[in-house]
Amino acid sequence: MSKLFLFAVLAFCAYLFFRSLGRPKNGSTRPPRPAEEMVACAQCGVNLPAGESLRSGEHSYCCEEHRVLGPSKPRH
Ligand SMILES: [Zn+2]
Repeated sequence: MSKLFLFAVLAFCAYLFFRSLGRPKNGSTRPPRPAEEMVACAQCGVNLPAGESLRSGEHSYCCEEHRVLGPSKPRH
């Protein structure tokens, strides 16, 4: 039974240790953001995270207005 108690104490210490590692000391650093897929607005070409884009069919748009306008024609 004492081994189990020792294991619980070690696990708790490890938990506190890893929790202190993950916390920045000065608090000014930005929280790490997971790498997110970037997409380009089919109308104006601005890059934005896929999670913030508006999807319409196979195209992504930065805002509702551009989604209504639809994909811009290539200027070549
Ligand atoms: Zn746009």
